[in-house]
Amino acid sequence: MTTTEPALPRWDLSDLFPGLDSEAYRQARQAIEESLQAFEATRPNLTEALTPQGLFEILRLYDGLQRQVSRYLGFAYLRFAEDTQDPLAQTMRGRADQLAAEIGNRTLPFTLWWKALPEPRAQTLLGGAGDFRQWLINLRREAPFTLSEPEERVINLKDVSGRHALVGLYDTLTNRYTFEMTVDGAKRSLTRGELEAYRYRREPELRAASYRELLRVYAGERNVLGQLYQSLVRDWRNENVDLRRFASPLAVRNLGNDLPDEVVDTLLEVCRHKATVFQRFFRLKAEWLGVERLRRYDLYAPVGDSGRVYPMAEAVAEVMAAFEDFSPEAQRLAQRVLDEHHYDGQVRPGKRAGAFCATIEPALTPWVLQSYQGQPRDVATLAHELGHAVHASLASAHSALTQDATLPLAETASTFGEMLLIDRLLARDPDEEVRRALLFRQMDDNYATILRQAYFAVFEREAHARVAAGGQVDDLSDFYLETLREQFGDSIELSDDFRFEWLAIPHIYHTPFYVYAYAFGQLLVLSLYQEYREQGAPFIPRYLEILRAGGSDSPLGILDKAGVDIRRAAFWEKGFGVLERALEELARLPRPAPPGA
Ligand SMILES: [Zn+2]
Repeated sequence: MTTTEPALPRWDLSDLFPGLDSEAYRQARQAIEESLQAFEATRPNLTEALTPQGLFEILRLYDGLQRQVSRYLGFAYLRFAEDTQDPLAQTMRGRADQLAAEIGNRTLPFTLWWKALPEPRAQTLLGGAGDFRQWLINLRREAPFTLSEPEERVINLKDVSGRHALVGLYDTLTNRYTFEMTVDGAKRSLTRGELEAYRYRREPELRAASYRELLRVYAGERNVLGQLYQSLVRDWRNENVDLRRFASPLAVRNLGNDLPDEVVDTLLEVCRHKATVFQRFFRLKAEWLGVERLRRYDLYAPVGDSGRVYPMAEAVAEVMAAFEDFSPEAQRLAQRVLDEHHYDGQVRPGKRAGAFCATIEPALTPWVLQSYQGQPRDVATLAHELGHAVHASLASAHSALTQDATLPLAETASTFGEMLLIDRLLARDPDEEVRRALLFRQMDDNYATILRQAYFAVFEREAHARVAAGGQVDDLSDFYLETLREQFGDSIELSDDFRFEWLAIPHIYHTPFYVYAYAFGQLLVLSLYQEYREQGAPFIPRYLEILRAGGSDSPLGILDKAGVDIRRAAFWEKGFGVLERALEELARLPRPAPPGA
């Protein structure tokens, strides 16, 4: 960007507090203590005599406490994010963590009481809970799978030296690995992050070398990493299926996400069935790269680079216009973030990397942070984070306990906002290079978020079954290779070294079955977007209703009310329609000259 451009905006946090060392901030800490004591004083009321109205009053106190705490903690976290090197911000963030833990402990008697109530009594009290209802329901969701208190205590205790220790060991071992690669004739020692950056390079030999080295190192460690995985998988089954009586290892995660098992099974089936869409994409990509067939190493090979740079003002104008065309209300709420100086786009040393939208509490406009560098991906990130802000703002009529969408719906407005922006740029930018770069990136991203993650979950489901039946590392690796063969068909030349790739996926060790949430969230939005394309204006109020619900109902309840049936395979298949259209557009763009011509 040129130096004549206006400076990028930095956010203003004074809607929260004047400073970390201000009198107002000290007083806020004191006020939290008073609210905590008032809340604790309600403890004797938690008896048989408590009426629904009485519970409602207690929840109002709790909601008020949460708002105070969110402002106090939020300020410390945002101050730290804007300058991670500031010693005061470091100290206060540490104290904020401590305070959060203390509040958790001091409000625990209430949540424990609520979770332990017999079901009929809980139902009676829920009748008067108003907007707090879903929050209370969520707390009790695990009740049917909860063991006796002494059993739970033993599990907690043994997890410290068991499951948590094993996960810690996996991290310690794998974070220590170093990777060797020859670049420009010189041998280099690289971290995993540095090594993986070569996957996206133009030079085919660097891409292959990067993958081969990663897989070489992990394959060499397969015995110990495989053993860790087997132990974690056995622990998962012993605890959740044998003791807690979940229907399957996957059902544990589904309960956490508040999604019925059948919905998740349908999602995974549709993804498998529609893998051919991405297979067509890989064949097209091979054509563009001028090769007969892609190797697995070439999956993320760059295709074209438009070199297009968007000055901040242009990025804002494009995002706002994309939102406005869809819904003036959404545009107004996004614009509010900028107008109230809640957006920080500067590139500064010490500023936290990445981007986020922070929702503090319903009464405040969210804050958005990114390091804006003018690339098309930065414009998409702006649309993404402002989409989050729109979602939170539309849900601001709810309590602090029910404003935030739950995980399966958390990325709805953000991803939808990105789609609106990309479609606008595609429709308006006459430059073929720009359109090609946008479409390839969209397909690459969707592959990595949808199909790759869905197949990880397919692998996990089978791996958990095989381990229970005594399966060993080689067994699991054979199956992993099978999932890759199914995923890629003959569109990719798949080398045998990828059979050990699963050993290098931290998610399946840390949080079993977490990965499908990525596929769920992304494909949900694509399917909604396809409905928008098919229905036009009548779709908009239904969609806004989903956002307005925030976290005040279960994902299924919210989508049902909006007339969206995620139990049907046909709904999920719609999402692939968006990708098929992107493919058609790509196929229509003129081919580049063959290399060397
Ligand atoms: Zn997001």
